[in-house]
Formats: sequence, C-alpha cells, structure tokens
Amino acid sequence: MTREIKLILLGAPGAGKGTQAEIISKDYGIPAISTGAIIREAVKNGTEMGLAAKEYIDSGALVPDSVVIGIIKERLAMPDCKGGFILDGFPRTVPQAAALDEMGVEITDVISIEVADERILERMGGRRVCKACGATYHVVFNPSPNGDKCACGEELTIRSDDKPEVVKSRLDTYHEQTEPLKDFYNAKGILKIVEGQEKLEDTTALTKAALEA
Ligand code: AMP
Repeated sequence: MTREIKLILLGAPGAGKGTQAEIISKDYGIPAISTGAIIREAVKNGTEMGLAAKEYIDSGALVPDSVVIGIIKERLAMPDCKGGFILDGFPRTVPQAAALDEMGVEITDVISIEVADERILERMGGRRVCKACGATYHVVFNPSPNGDKCACGEELTIRSDDKPEVVKSRLDTYHEQTEPLKDFYNAKGILKIVEGQEKLEDTTALTKAALEA
C-alpha cells in the first residue's frame, strides 16, 4: 500500500473494530488510536478526566464531545500520526466528525464493520482485555496464545461495560448517535461497508480488500 491511509473504523461496540484496528496497524505500519482505550487508561490512572468519564462509561453512555475532541486533537498532533492512522471509536457523533473536518484532518477511508445486534450480545460475554497492555481477545473467536493470561503474561479481565445490560444501552447509543455518521461519510463518497464475519481473519481480508479496492 503506497497511498496514505487516514482511516475511520465505524461499527457497533463488539463488532470487531479494535481487533481489526490492531491488525491493520501492524500490517500497514500506522498507529491505531482508540479513544475508549485512552479514556480507560485515564480512569485506571485516576486522572481528573478519567474520574469525570467513569460515570458515562459505566452506564454505556458517551463521554461528552468536548472531552473526546480534546483527546483526539492532542493525539493526532503527535508525530507518529504524520504518515496516517486508524481511528477506532472516534468519531461517534456528528459533532465529533464535524470537529475532525474543522481541524483540517482529511480522512481517506471510512469502513463500517456491520454485525447484527443479536450476534454482538452473544459475542460480548466472551470478550477479554489485558489491563496491562490493552490487548483484546475473545475466548472463542480470538483466544490468547497464553490461555487465560495475555500474550504479555498479565491476567485477562472482563471490561465493566461488557455486562449485558450495559451492552444493550451501548448498542442503543450506537444506533441513535453513531450510525448517522454512515450518511455523513457516504455523502463525502468515502464510506465502505464490510460485513463482519464469524472468523476474524475473514473480516480482516474483507477490510483490506475494501482499503485496496
Ligand atoms: P470503546 O472502547 O470504543 O467501546 O469505548 C468505551 C467507552 O468509552 C464508550 O462506551 C464511551 O463511553 C467512551 N468513548 C470512547 N470513544 C468515545 C467517543 N468518540 N465519544 C464519546 N465517548 C466515547
């Protein structure tokens, strides 16, 4: 791939954005930026922003636009983003997308990974994360090479917002606030749809095909 990639991955929570972002990041040598991971890190470290964000995350609601826009502005200004990047979980509202435009960020590709809500609810129970390095796994679809420990050796945990009642509320939030972004980017002619597959490598193949088409 020789062209510059400034990619947004859209999709419901649990659709596989984070996993695909990690793979594409390695294969294309560009950073994957997850606002969710940045916020979880702030919660873990007990920073002022983390403390303010925790209540929203725990209820499945979105953190206010002003907070996440500030996070992304700072992150995109870092030198490793010069040659391209993948945004996983940002933007999640139309004002956030408009903020990217206002910052002069020229997104080249938007890929929406689509998975039915019922399948997502099934899947989320198996999701595991490493609090030390941030890697994500699924007990069935993407198991750790290290059993119930992370590849880095730390314990794997279940995210507090992966509880079924919180997942339902996150799906509602997705449909109401984030899905309208498909129209926003379709109007710019840069939206591609990928059907999330049972096997993650099949979704990767479709995602790369969408990028290279
Ligand atoms: P994620 O790991 O992307 O599923 O994000 C976890 C949680 O962090 C979300 O449910 C939101 O509460 C918050 N969050 C992450 N990204 C954003 C965003 N772009 N806008 C608002 N809230 C966000």
